[in-house]
Amino acid sequence: MSAVIPPGKSLGVLGSGQLGRMFAIAARRLGYRVHVFSPEWDTPTGQVADVEVQGSYDDLAAIAKFAQSVDVLTFEFENVPSATTEAAAKWTPVRPDGAILHLTQHRLREKSALAGIGLPVTPFYPVHNFNELLSGLQKLGTPAVLKTASWGYDGKGQARIDSIDAAQTAWESLHTDEAILEAFIDFSCEISVVAARSTQGDFVAYGPVENSHRRHILDISRCPANVDESVAREAIEIARAICEQWNVVGVLCVEFFVAQDGKLLINELAPRPHNSGHLTIDAHVTCQFEQQVRAICGLPLGSSRQLQPAAMANLLGDLWQPAVPDWEAVCRYREVKLHLYGKQEARPGRKMGHLTARASTVQEAEQLVVSARQALQQGQSSSD
Ligand code: AMP
Repeated sequence: MSAVIPPGKSLGVLGSGQLGRMFAIAARRLGYRVHVFSPEWDTPTGQVADVEVQGSYDDLAAIAKFAQSVDVLTFEFENVPSATTEAAAKWTPVRPDGAILHLTQHRLREKSALAGIGLPVTPFYPVHNFNELLSGLQKLGTPAVLKTASWGYDGKGQARIDSIDAAQTAWESLHTDEAILEAFIDFSCEISVVAARSTQGDFVAYGPVENSHRRHILDISRCPANVDESVAREAIEIARAICEQWNVVGVLCVEFFVAQDGKLLINELAPRPHNSGHLTIDAHVTCQFEQQVRAICGLPLGSSRQLQPAAMANLLGDLWQPAVPDWEAVCRYREVKLHLYGKQEARPGRKMGHLTARASTVQEAEQLVVSARQALQQGQSSSD
């Protein structure tokens, strides 16, 4: 059993976006010091960390030095090379283990491993060339979705194929020699389970949370999800099976499609806190970021009990067009919590912040965050 890393010690995080920022805020509230490493400077995480180190993930000497300065290391950026986590692990525990990162940063590896332990995944077919794409389309039928095996997120590196005639264009659009073809799922809804498992094997899970996407980017999350109790229980048991079988220490999110017949299919995993879990900051006894701290430090996990129904709306960079949003307008929504990530440049599709509301029903909470987000844009011309 690993020793507890008590408050006062230093936690390292690779990656410096909003997930690292909210992790750092939770860690500092618990009295830890936070060091962050990423290629950028004055970052969302760096702004709230004790120490910000700028360097390349490929600079293994810099990674080794960083690892020696902390008592445990985690990550918020998934595409850290395996060599980086291996170099760090020589000096300090890396949690979750780099092997889990390696699995989840590649859609084919991830889906094969999940299917290998008997878990339900979206039907898929490996594609390395155009002929394999044609074979895959014959096997899975159309419509189907072609995705790059690695480096895809928020719908980037994806093409929907509605007929065999569209296959060539889709294959060329991806510019890759390793892809995955998935059956297109006519889902009734999308849900996610954020789970945490500690060095001691403690396990907790939230939700499930119900998610709607816009242009492939998460738009609104609602908790609890509008699914049957049995579906909710099964989703949590699947998350537990993954965490236990892979010996995950930290936070892991499982995203699911709920098929029309109520069957669950795993879409993808993230071995870290997830956008759909942001509402846990305001709506649950212990948020996903505090669980990440507790889990990697070997502390008992906190309660994941929900205090009230809740909803979250993402604030994308598009809202900054043509002018900076009207912050006073949103602050007039006294039941809505505003979270901003300190990013300087608002690009379309870039996650700049989010809004959370609690209410007596999920629908009311959703109405609150949607109206508050609309108020941000008052007087502006909408870009979509
Ligand atoms: P991903 O990056 O794989 O999570 O995809 C982003 C979003 O695209 C998902 O949340 C779904 O809304 C949609 N999507 C991805 N794959 C599929 C699929 N096989 N069937 C239906 N919709 C999909």
